[in-house]
Order: sequence, then structure tokens, then C-alpha cells
Amino acid sequence: MNDNDELKNQKHKSAMEKQKAKVDARIEQASAERGVAVLLTGNGKGKSSSAFGMVLRALGYGQKVGVVQFIKGQQLSGEEIFIREHCPQVAFYQMGTGFTWNTQDRSGDIAAAEKTWAFAEPLLQDPSFDLVVLDEITYMLAYGYLDEAKVIDALANRPREQSVVVTGRGGGTALREVMDTVSEIKDIKHAFAAGIKARKGVDY
Ligand code: ATP
Ligand code: MG
Repeated sequence: MNDNDELKNQKHKSAMEKQKAKVDARIEQASAERGVAVLLTGNGKGKSSSAFGMVLRALGYGQKVGVVQFIKGQQLSGEEIFIREHCPQVAFYQMGTGFTWNTQDRSGDIAAAEKTWAFAEPLLQDPSFDLVVLDEITYMLAYGYLDEAKVIDALANRPREQSVVVTGRGGGTALREVMDTVSEIKDIKHAFAAGIKARKGVDY
């Protein structure tokens, strides 16, 4: 090792020590212990898959999980198949066929959204659930299919130890306000734009 390398190594070590001290101090300061509300939004890929990553984490600790999907995917997804086949302990509900993107049947859509909410709401009141995922619910709020105040109220008043993950593009200021963690996934580029087909295990 030459002098230059040694100097670089020393510098790196000292920078890392400083960084560690900062992180340790922050960890020390974080004293509140309660469930967290996470919003995953933005136009980039990774919102629902991140939510299901947290489902996997929670299940790893034997926690009780509820997953409510507010739109039906055009096709079956791997996570749906896996949960239905291997996770009978997960409370799972998908809005199903009632919902159509072309709002020709607005009252049908609203009924489907309300029916789905009727499954979700009790989960948000049940302290035995450690984690509740409300996948794609932001669209229901954007279309006014669900009353935003009602949903925000349920999120805010959920059991103290319960964590909740909300996904979907948009999500207004009021929703962001009530969440503890808000991440906006930015679309830099997506394979689909280059003509690559949605991929099993990656996209669905
Ligand atoms: P994922 O489920 O992969 O985490 P997501 O939840 O962030 O995606 P959604 O808007 O719910 O995004 O869309 C789900 C599907 O659309 C996935 O197959 C995803 O790959 C695809 N998708 C997401 N973002 C984009 C984009 N910016 N351009 C094209 N396709 C996208
Ligand atoms: Mg999604």
C-alpha cells in the first residue's frame, strides 16, 4: 500500500466513524415506539411490491397481516397467488370485478369501493392486526369513490401498535399529513416504455 492509499483509508475510516456517531445519536433520539403509517406514492414502479416486502417482513416475525387491494389487476399477481395458497393467516381481500377503469358504471364502482372499505375498516380497528396494507386506495380517494375524511379518520384512529401501508399514485395533502413516512417513487424509466412486456415475478 502506498502513502496515498493509506491516507485515503485513514480519511475513509474517520468519515465512517463520524457517520456512525451521527447515526447512533439519531437512533438514541428515536424513543417513540408505535406503529407507523407509510404512504408509497409517485409514478415510478415499486409501490405495491414494496408494500408486499413489508408483508413478508411482518410474516417473518409471525405478525398478523391484512391486505386489501382496491383495484383488481388485469391479471393474477404472484403475491395474490402466494398469499391465497400459502398464507391462510393473512386477511386478504381484493376489490374484484366490480371496478372498471372506464367509469361507465360509476355507481357500480362506488358500491365495489364501499364493499372493499367495509372489509378494510374493521382491520383498522382491530388491535390484533400488526400490519394492514391498503393497496391502490389513493385512486378511490381521487375519484371520490370513498370519502377521504372517513379514510383519514380511520387511519389516524387505528390501534397504536398497528402499522399501515397505503399505496397508489397521488394521495392528497390531507393523506400525506396523517402518514408518518411518505415516499414518492420517481419514474426515471420503465421497461414497458421500451416495448418490453410486463414480466412475471417482477411486474405481477
Ligand atoms: P409494482 O407493483 O411493480 O411495485 P407499482 O405498485 O409501483 O408497481 P402500479 O401503478 O400499481 O405501480 O402499477 C402496477 C404495474 O404497472 C406493474 O406491473 C408495474 O411494473 C407497472 N408500472 C408501474 N409504474 C410504471 C410506469 N411508470 N410505466 C409503466 N408501467 C409501470
Ligand atoms: Mg401498485
